[in-house]
Amino acid sequence: MCKTTRSHSSPHKPSDIPPNCPVENDGKNVRIIVFDPKGLIDSNSDLKHDALEEVGTFYNGLQNTPGLQPALKQSLSEFTFHVEYRHSNPSQTEKGCFGKMKFPFYIFNYDALPDSSANEMTALLHDHYIPEETKVWKITGPDTRETAPVHPYEDFEKDWEKDSVLGFGIPGKYTDLKQPTFRKIGIIKIDAILKSSGVIGPEQRFTGVLKHELGHMLALAHLDNTIMNEKYVEGFNQFTIPQIDVINETLKRLA
Ligand SMILES: [Zn+2]
Repeated sequence: MCKTTRSHSSPHKPSDIPPNCPVENDGKNVRIIVFDPKGLIDSNSDLKHDALEEVGTFYNGLQNTPGLQPALKQSLSEFTFHVEYRHSNPSQTEKGCFGKMKFPFYIFNYDALPDSSANEMTALLHDHYIPEETKVWKITGPDTRETAPVHPYEDFEKDWEKDSVLGFGIPGKYTDLKQPTFRKIGIIKIDAILKSSGVIGPEQRFTGVLKHELGHMLALAHLDNTIMNEKYVEGFNQFTIPQIDVINETLKRLA
């Protein structure tokens, strides 16, 4: 749903230094906030309530995945995922000040946007202080993983208009030990999700895309046959234990 590599350099400059923001203390509460100013999912109450609730339930249930080491299970159980829906946009100041435990998502109707929408998306990334390059963890074996670069601005230019791309999830550069960045963003192309055909209903597809993009925001790369499968495939709705380990590492870093 969101490819992650490209080599040439982006014409866009990431924004300057983030503003001074009030200190937020969410403890170990992960706050996923879905901004839908146009009410695109508001008109479909099932889509809104069931899908959002399912995302929270799913991530809160990761601690019960069979086969987890006790320490991993214990660590995960300390985190709680909350999903909140807002029929509005955040203010400009809020956009620049989302704290470490905040995961903002934006709902867009791709077809309704003008040709310049890729530029609007770029502006949205700038507003959230998304860097030009960030990193995800690529799982390379049962006990091995390596970081892989992501170029959000280039990915947007390349993928925004593709019908097959249903959303974007961009993590902060959490792995940078010297100058980590913690801002992240999720973007959902709701009309592309509703249009794409399949056996399952739009609610489940919407839920699946949210889970996948949140996985990217938690620093996961694509991995075949899991929720992080590059293309949306019905039935790939689990994380592997090494992926859950990455999620836990990211959460510990953010908290
Ligand atoms: Zn993806």
